[in-house]
Amino acid sequence: MAELHTLTAHELADQMRRGAVSAREIAEATLARIAAVDERVKSFVTVTPEAALAQAREVDERRARGEALPPLAGIPIALKDNLCTRGVRTTCASKILDNWEPPYDATVVARLRAQHAVFVGKTNLDEFAMGSSTENSGLFVTHNPWDLSRVPGGSSGGSAAAVAAREATLALGSDTGGSIRQPAAFCGVVGLKPTYGRVSRYGLVAFASSLDQIGPMARDVTDAALLLQAISGSDPSDATSAPVAVPDYMQALRPEVKGLKLGVPREFFAQGVAPEVEAAVRAAVDRLVALGAEAEEVSMPHIDYAFPAFYIIAPAEASSNLARYDGVRYGLREPASDPTTMMERTRDAGFGAEVKQRIMLGTFTLSAGYYDAYYLKALKVRTLVKQDFDRAFERFDLLVAPVTPTVAFAIGERANDPLQMKLADVCTVPVNLAGGPAIAVPCGFHAGLPIGLQLMAKPFAEETLLRAAYTYEQATDWHLRAPAL
Ligand code: GLN
Repeated sequence: MAELHTLTAHELADQMRRGAVSAREIAEATLARIAAVDERVKSFVTVTPEAALAQAREVDERRARGEALPPLAGIPIALKDNLCTRGVRTTCASKILDNWEPPYDATVVARLRAQHAVFVGKTNLDEFAMGSSTENSGLFVTHNPWDLSRVPGGSSGGSAAAVAAREATLALGSDTGGSIRQPAAFCGVVGLKPTYGRVSRYGLVAFASSLDQIGPMARDVTDAALLLQAISGSDPSDATSAPVAVPDYMQALRPEVKGLKLGVPREFFAQGVAPEVEAAVRAAVDRLVALGAEAEEVSMPHIDYAFPAFYIIAPAEASSNLARYDGVRYGLREPASDPTTMMERTRDAGFGAEVKQRIMLGTFTLSAGYYDAYYLKALKVRTLVKQDFDRAFERFDLLVAPVTPTVAFAIGERANDPLQMKLADVCTVPVNLAGGPAIAVPCGFHAGLPIGLQLMAKPFAEETLLRAAYTYEQATDWHLRAPAL
């Protein structure tokens, strides 16, 4: 049998059902893998071996009693460290949340707990999910398992690296402007941003509340569907979660794209996309066409304005969301003789440069006199972008694009070039503004580094995404490659 840490969730679930392996053996193999490679990859902010082994023991006991267990029982899962975990430190990779232990679980965490999933730890991210390389972490830098001198992408870089390095079978990330899909592409794994409202955000530390969405990261599409199934559905604790029935995503996993209409939006390929990325994505479109889909070029004229609009809207919301870190209620406090000085010192010492810059930008664009010129205008652009998507989805089932313009860049290469850094998300932010779902799947390699294919669908059409991604995956073998560590 292959080593347990290399198997997918559906393979492990199969083995457990047949009694070939125990949850304890799987947890031990995964923890051993973390111990063996994480010193180099640095995916994890916190590893929770005792809790993982206790959860695994419970799974084995329940199975021994003859209980029928949910699909993710005993499966090792890593959680991005902006998801609240009761009694387990949740840092958002920020010094300002120093040693903060949430008193409650995020809804997604509670749902996975109810499935008896095994949480192995919390993963690194760009501070408060602001960034594209995980270099903005206030704690340390995570490395790309395919080439340790490169970034894993961000902001869910720790989750992507953990899945790629076989340190976790599955992981959760969050995606505000690409933070699931872009690191998934850089690390050669599958990442899915669900429709806004598909998954409860309760207990996800807010960055930009109208854009944030939690989603699965996995080694194949089947595993991504399993994890999506477990976390989807409305939640009374999140008023923006949608009261839309959750379909059986497993039913979507069939190799069948005959007659599926793919739109290939020109504007997504004109954003500094490297020739090797464009070639891989176009080859993937050809492959889907060979499998029965139909593809056609389309123009989405407002896509070029999505990126600047995102960088007005996201910092505006962030400046408001991050006002709560005042040295009183959470984490760090820098003492001073009066409360105003205490707050100033705490926020100065606790937030990193990128976060401070965004708070200042957001405060500026929301201030009297500038609100109409910047924030309101950006909201109008957001509507135009959404209309581009609506119009495209009148003709097409899916839109196809690169995930990110290049393969993973070197650590340090863009650290002092904020525009180049942010442009890593130029192909992912549009659909966040529109609200629909999107998936990243591996579609090639360049110089030993993975390339991602992005498929976008209309709101709540996750099944179409999964079906097309599954069909493509089953016809290719990119997802079977693993980094040599
Ligand atoms: N990279 C984008 C940013 O820095 C998006 C991040 C995200 O999706 N959380 O804001």
